[in-house]
Amino acid sequence: MKTSNLSKSYGDIFAIRDVSIEINQGEIFGLMGPNGAGKSTLIRILSTLTKSSSGEASIFGYNLRKDQRQVKKLIGIVLHHNLLYDELTAKENLSYYLRLYGFRNKETIEKIIFEKTSQFNIVDRVEDQIGTLSSGQRKRFDIIRATIHNPKLLLLDEPFSGLDRQGIAQLKDFFNSTKKNSTILFSTHNQQIGEEVSDRIATLEKGRIIETKTSGD
Ligand code: ADP
Ligand code: MG
Repeated sequence: MKTSNLSKSYGDIFAIRDVSIEINQGEIFGLMGPNGAGKSTLIRILSTLTKSSSGEASIFGYNLRKDQRQVKKLIGIVLHHNLLYDELTAKENLSYYLRLYGFRNKETIEKIIFEKTSQFNIVDRVEDQIGTLSSGQRKRFDIIRATIHNPKLLLLDEPFSGLDRQGIAQLKDFFNSTKKNSTILFSTHNQQIGEEVSDRIATLEKGRIIETKTSGD
């Protein structure tokens, strides 16, 4: 994943400005910075949900502007608001997404759902309607939803927010097992979590990258 001089302005305000980053395959890359720094804007642009004002970005060689269809197939997205249907059970939601991605075999679908929910220790809640779960449980199912098709690039905006200690530990483990097959870009305003989880970190301030470093340095 690569961006060059990526910018987004809203009137006079630059939400992000001249952001140039390159993320290697299999890397866990943390975006840090205070509220309003531009983290969500950058993630929304890379998710193809917001158009940049100028600059370029490509994901596995596909240009974000020109090759949106290919890009969408390669990414998984977790935003502040989950993309699950409240009236459906967790299992119905996940089955629905698996079908969208072309899975048809009922046993395969059951197996994938079992494996993924085991990682977050929520196998026993799959028959519950999403709307009846706690926000942390919904978050876990939404992260599973985003990774159900094994995306090559996982984009997560503040995924650790709203998780308890156990949820944070599960998500860390999940990142570490997922990075074998995917690249992960996530944002956090929590310095400690950012440093613990990431291989590399970029710090945004007022839309600009002020520092990029290898975690632990
Ligand atoms: P962060 O996620 O780091 O808290 P954001 O990307 O949400 O930061 O916001 C960066 C800046 O862009 C803020 O000043 C915010 O007010 C502005 N901004 C973000 N989205 C919009 C929008 N849709 N319209 C106007 N300004 C926006
Ligand atoms: Mg944000």
